[in-house]
Amino acid sequence: MEQKFATVLYWTWSCRPGMLSAEEVGVFARACQQPGLCITANWGRSPCWLEGMDLMAAKSKISLLDLGRLDVDDGFFIRGATAAVQSNPHPAYERRRVAVVAAVIEHPQAGPILFETGCAQNAQEEWPEPAWEAFPRNVYNDEHHLGNALAAAGYGIGDIRAVVMGHLHLDHAGGLEKFAGSDVPIYAHEMEIKEHYYAVATKEDIGAYLPTYLNWQLNWQPLHREETELFDGLTVRHMPGHTPGLLTMQVETQNSGHFMLNSDLYHVRDVFEQDLTQGWLGRDSHNWHRSHRWMKQLQHRYSATMVYGHDASVLEELRQQAKTFD
Ligand SMILES: [Zn+2]
Repeated sequence: MEQKFATVLYWTWSCRPGMLSAEEVGVFARACQQPGLCITANWGRSPCWLEGMDLMAAKSKISLLDLGRLDVDDGFFIRGATAAVQSNPHPAYERRRVAVVAAVIEHPQAGPILFETGCAQNAQEEWPEPAWEAFPRNVYNDEHHLGNALAAAGYGIGDIRAVVMGHLHLDHAGGLEKFAGSDVPIYAHEMEIKEHYYAVATKEDIGAYLPTYLNWQLNWQPLHREETELFDGLTVRHMPGHTPGLLTMQVETQNSGHFMLNSDLYHVRDVFEQDLTQGWLGRDSHNWHRSHRWMKQLQHRYSATMVYGHDASVLEELRQQAKTFD
């Protein structure tokens, strides 16, 4: 045991010359006392002979799911988009046809993970009438049903090992019904789970959040921190503004770079690309701008491909490029 301890100590020292802290020495000492010693001890650094080999980074595959189309006034997405101004006192109130977007990520260790679940199959019956009036799902063919979209990507609902929820609005959390009573973990930010109840109980935001979606038959797994590497190479970040507990997720692939799944931090590409401000659907502009600046910096850092909560043109372009990005 002493020899193992000395060897591990040498690896670390030769990678990072200098004194080890008492805490680091303690971690190694305890690791050496464990049966089935793990020399890397899961503390975020590899021995130097692994450096550059990237053996620890698990690379995922990602398939985007097309769950139908909504027709929505641009003012919901972009602040002032349909405002009457001096030079245009009678703007046309054309609606934009947007998509309902989800994604399935095949992680080499964690298995297939679903990012968001779209609208319920019978959304027109479940949604309050004003919600359907503002955001009607006017295109919903067989291929847009969650189960069928997953099947087209090569998965069954029963294959899904975890679900990550960007937020819990009615057009994102509808498909969660399919996981009720199962032990599939449903990851969401603590703030979002709480906001769901608060919005319904106070009726401040009832409609966007539905009482019937407060479902304790789901295996809720709250996340608490600003940034969590949920699985190797899959990082979720708390980016409030559209809702208090919105999560985005970064996915690293082998050959296609990084993807940023934005949920409704951005509904459409214009807002991110032109630095616009979120429209009537934005709940907290101050926090939204903070989240936006963070995402701008991250997208630049990783040259990441952006996937927006509802942008149909981006969804269609990416799905034309590849059914699955590996
Ligand atoms: Zn949405």
